Amino acid sequence: MSSQQPATDSAANYARIVRDMQKALRQSGRGAEAARLTAVSKNQPWEVIEPVLKAGQRQFGENRVQEAMQRWGEVRGDYADLDLRLIGPLQSNKAAEAVGFFDCIESVDREKIARAIADEAQKQGRCPRLFIQVNIGEEVQKTGILPQDADGFIKTVQTDFALKIEGLMCIPPVEGPRGPYFALLRKIAERNGLRALSMGMSDDFKTAITFGATEIRVGTAIFGYR
Ligand SMILES: *Cc1c(COP(=O)(O)O)cnc(C)c1O
Repeated sequence: MSSQQPATDSAANYARIVRDMQKALRQSGRGAEAARLTAVSKNQPWEVIEPVLKAGQRQFGENRVQEAMQRWGEVRGDYADLDLRLIGPLQSNKAAEAVGFFDCIESVDREKIARAIADEAQKQGRCPRLFIQVNIGEEVQKTGILPQDADGFIKTVQTDFALKIEGLMCIPPVEGPRGPYFALLRKIAERNGLRALSMGMSDDFKTAITFGATEIRVGTAIFGYR
């Protein structure tokens, strides 16, 4: 008997998540294209990522610059339409690599990092799409700009650093209902004229969709626990 655990059936999980996402969109009266799925591949072995890539998924989320470059560096040449997103905190000493590598950075949350991205974008002549991360539950252990500082920070990034912002990202507190946090993120985005909302993970993406998520980030429910 083999002692190996059977690998997670990530392709089946992926198909189910896509169905659930489409159902939540329909039930919210939103179109099938109104939200997109980021498959969060951080910490996962390639054997569970590959079936999802083969099934047609192209948008993947990673937490660490180095790990993402190792995992996707070579594969990327075979898939011109990959959309690789940094969803974990960015240190300014990694800004050059992050700007050069990612299609989207969702974790812009302080002036220092905005400045580093702006400088690198200038140097490299390319800039990833950008989201600002909001610490929506004002939790000490989480990164992100505080809700009350968000309007000012968005203006600073847009005007002082001349960076285009696509939308906002948040990770709400684990405890309690998520709806009010998703609603608050949406309100901040709307009053700042931002369209995209990256919110909702494995256990709350359906709720996030009803509150207007345009990007959901699902890891565990597709790839299993790591
Ligand atoms: C890990 C992670 C996710 C995915 O969370 P799951 O609960 O595994 O779906 C989403 N967003 C961010 C920022 C993450 O770090």
